[in-house]
Amino acid sequence: MSRLMVIGCGGVASVAIHKCCQNSEVFDELILASRTKSKCDSLAEKLTKLSKTKIMTESVDADDASQVEALIRKYQPDAVLNLALPYQDLSIMDACLAAGVDYIDTANFEPEDTDDPIWRKRYEARCKELGFSAYFDYSWQWDYQDRFKEAGLTALLGTGFDPGVTSVFAAYAKKHYFDRIDTIDILDCNGGDHGYPFATNFNPEINLREVSAPGSYMEDGKWVEIPAMSIKREYDFEGVGMKDMYLLHHEEIEALGRNMPEVKRIRFFMTFGQSYLTHMSCLENVGMLSTTPVDFQGQKIVPIQFLKALLPDPASLGPRTVGKTNIGCIFTGVKDGKEKSLYIYNVCDHQECYKEVGSQAISYTTGVPAMIGAMLVVTGQWKKPGVFTTDEFDPDLYMEALNKWGLPWKVDENPVLVP
Ligand code: NDP
Repeated sequence: MSRLMVIGCGGVASVAIHKCCQNSEVFDELILASRTKSKCDSLAEKLTKLSKTKIMTESVDADDASQVEALIRKYQPDAVLNLALPYQDLSIMDACLAAGVDYIDTANFEPEDTDDPIWRKRYEARCKELGFSAYFDYSWQWDYQDRFKEAGLTALLGTGFDPGVTSVFAAYAKKHYFDRIDTIDILDCNGGDHGYPFATNFNPEINLREVSAPGSYMEDGKWVEIPAMSIKREYDFEGVGMKDMYLLHHEEIEALGRNMPEVKRIRFFMTFGQSYLTHMSCLENVGMLSTTPVDFQGQKIVPIQFLKALLPDPASLGPRTVGKTNIGCIFTGVKDGKEKSLYIYNVCDHQECYKEVGSQAISYTTGVPAMIGAMLVVTGQWKKPGVFTTDEFDPDLYMEALNKWGLPWKVDENPVLVP
């Protein structure tokens, strides 16, 4: 029995909240708190009819740690599940520390204002020292390690699918299949079609920042950075078919690189269709992906935020998206002196997700692991003082939970490798 506070009520949160309500034996009370309270109210109204979980709603500006802290003190939840945006990670972590509760999220911190001088100074030093220039990195949240440890609190970072499940797959492969892992390729394929010429499957601002950044991978413990979309491979995905995929920077590479230093190369690939890439490069060329405010008729406008307002809301894509996602990891390495390879992956159907929880598969494949991470923390099964990613716990319980809660996985011991 536990009480969970969920912050944010967008596409991913909606799925995680549905799943918490299906799991009412663990989550008997939920507090939904977001910027737009009406979204929390309408979800609560729908789910209260379907579940034993008691749901309370609040409005909160999670950029303001003191508001979050006051809310935590009011409701005394066992943990806070942050499903707002990566911009709010640090303020919510601060609030959790101040009020003494565990913290869980699905994406690592990045700043809303990339011109903020304090952030930029550290960012530029990191670009130089580490050699990757994405706006997000773990350093800001890893800095909370000592404070969470001293407070005896757990912070579980990045429990979505990627990051999240992909790092659990890595821990599982290491535990059960390899004496030594040499390479990890994370493959994220979305074979879904929503019928729009251009739309993103999760928050457009966060998504477009991610995919328009230079790609990078880790080799022999060092970052190798490449121009955006400059490494392309083809792969035949079960349930989807042949797709083009591109090497991207992705946050789990950083955590896996730190926690599994023996792995010689870690790469991340995501599939994109030609239409998506053409739209994206056109938007980038005209400056619409910029995070720097411009003056427009006496007002300051951030181009990428304006673009977000024009694009379809990812939460509205559910009814119209057909097809499947296929996300997983290919490992190579050695077991009992013999070289081996292994592919662990999940195939998820957009329409099946929509039938079950009213969302497309991208929100589903993130929201289910968010619930699972929260469940493992509040039940004490994944609880230890400090700040951790999902590869730093015993993977078996998480893997069992994926099968139980809608994301069954498969193991292929003879996969086609990515050149
Ligand atoms: P949405 O934009 O759909 O939802 C974000 C929610 O956060 C909205 O309800 C929004 O409120 C709320 N919010 C934003 N700012 C604040 C604030 N200052 N205070 C309170 N609430 C706020 O995003 P998604 O659901 O698509 O994504 C949620 C998170 O999941 C993101 O961090 C994203 O990066 C992550 N993600 C992780 C993945 C993974 O596999 N690990 C994959 C996909 C996403 P309002 O309704 O008012 O706009």
